[in-house]
Amino acid sequence: MAAVGPLARVARLGSSICRNHRLILNRSSQRRGIASCIDPAHGLTDEQKEFQKVAFDFAANEMAPHMAEWDQKEIFPVETMRKAAQLGFGGIYVQPDVGGSGLSRLDTSVIFEALSTGCVSTTAYISIHNMCAWMIDTFGNNEQREKFCPDLCSMEKFASYCLTEPGSGSDAASLLTSAQRKGDHYILNGSKAFISGGGDTDVYVVMCRTGSKGPKGISCVVVEKGTLGLSFGKKEQKVGWNSQPTRAVIFEDCAVPVTNRLGEEGQGFSIAMKGLNGGRINIASCSLGAAHACVQLARDHLLVRKQFGETLSNNQFLQFKLAEMATKLVASRLLVREAATALQENRSDAVSLCSMAKLFATDECFNICNQALQMHGGYGYLKDYAVQQFVRDIRVHQILEGTNEVMRMIISRNLLTES
Ligand SMILES: Cc1cc2nc3c(=O)[nH]c(=O)nc-3n(C[C@H](O)[C@H](O)[C@H](O)COP(=O)(O)OP(=O)(O)OC[C@H]3O[C@@H](n4cnc5c(N)ncnc54)[C@H](O)[C@@H]3O)c2cc1C
Repeated sequence: MAAVGPLARVARLGSSICRNHRLILNRSSQRRGIASCIDPAHGLTDEQKEFQKVAFDFAANEMAPHMAEWDQKEIFPVETMRKAAQLGFGGIYVQPDVGGSGLSRLDTSVIFEALSTGCVSTTAYISIHNMCAWMIDTFGNNEQREKFCPDLCSMEKFASYCLTEPGSGSDAASLLTSAQRKGDHYILNGSKAFISGGGDTDVYVVMCRTGSKGPKGISCVVVEKGTLGLSFGKKEQKVGWNSQPTRAVIFEDCAVPVTNRLGEEGQGFSIAMKGLNGGRINIASCSLGAAHACVQLARDHLLVRKQFGETLSNNQFLQFKLAEMATKLVASRLLVREAATALQENRSDAVSLCSMAKLFATDECFNICNQALQMHGGYGYLKDYAVQQFVRDIRVHQILEGTNEVMRMIISRNLLTES
């Protein structure tokens, strides 16, 4: 594929950063090296390896040094994200004519996995932002695409995805936020819960009820910050994901132009679910990055920590645990990449595979990170050590973008109904 637009920038930057990156890799190899069996570059094209290196480099230089501070001080790192956008990471799978990078779902997964090694929480927000930009790019008309996408791709503006409500989580189609048509506006009333970026972002992609009960009565509208009647709840205090704010989004007689509706009336739930198929791969990819980092941290620790007169790496129980962690990391990555390819190719098994990938990778990668913490003993529980933050940050991946119980529902329903 020829490099276009921001991708060309990524590729160009790739060749210059690549040299430094290799130096950094070489230097760290002297300390720890990357075992080839868990190398995330395995099986990728030269071009994918190139922008993977750019993403790893960005994670190492621009994110990892700050990840603990962003977590502890709850900083939403706007300028760092804008730097990431300059590399094409603000609209990775958005089309180039509106500022996107036009990359595939597999490319996107590779990038989010690499970025997450530097900060899961920030990367996960970037992934939600990308999902929103893709929804506008895909389901918006030209006017809407041209109005919103360029600023989202440059991360001049930030986006939030608004589906969950206080009374509708897993049963998302029961949402109650109403949008009553009045002339050329919809009047929105209701509230959304747990909105990532809420209050700090500029563009809200909102699922609301324009018709009767159930999924067919739902539409999708874009609400801009500053619209009268739009307000936000208090910033939630969370276990992890602290570099991004989470707030309720409240609509009180909030008038939104009908021209801000994506697609037709009644298509909103379908648009929301299509966004989430990619979202699930992205979140699973963020878990892969955390697990990759934690396998390496655990390996490093076992090699240096001595107990009972020898390094922990000589203990067969811990050796076997490390082998299991590496095996589950690679299995998770293979499944995530297979799902990304299925979605890219619009295959009939894509929805099930995205759910399987999200279920498997977010569960297994959490277990890997948790095991890595255990291997660090008491040190793993200290905030001086990154391993605890990876554990805290990826715990929520088992809950959001559809809980892992909902993933089981989707997979089994498709298994039982498809012939
Ligand atoms: C940090 C954070 C950020 C978030 N960001 C966003 C966002 O940006 N936008 C957004 O729209 N939402 C967001 N969410 C919301 C998230 O998607 C929901 O929390 C999630 O879908 C679960 O809904 P719930 O919390 O209401 O749990 P519930 O639906 O009440 O579920 C509670 C438990 O019961 C289980 N359960 C429910 N029904 C069944 C069933 N039929 N069978 C088996 N088990 C079942 C669930 O799996 C879960 O374990 C975020 C959540 C968090 C914590």
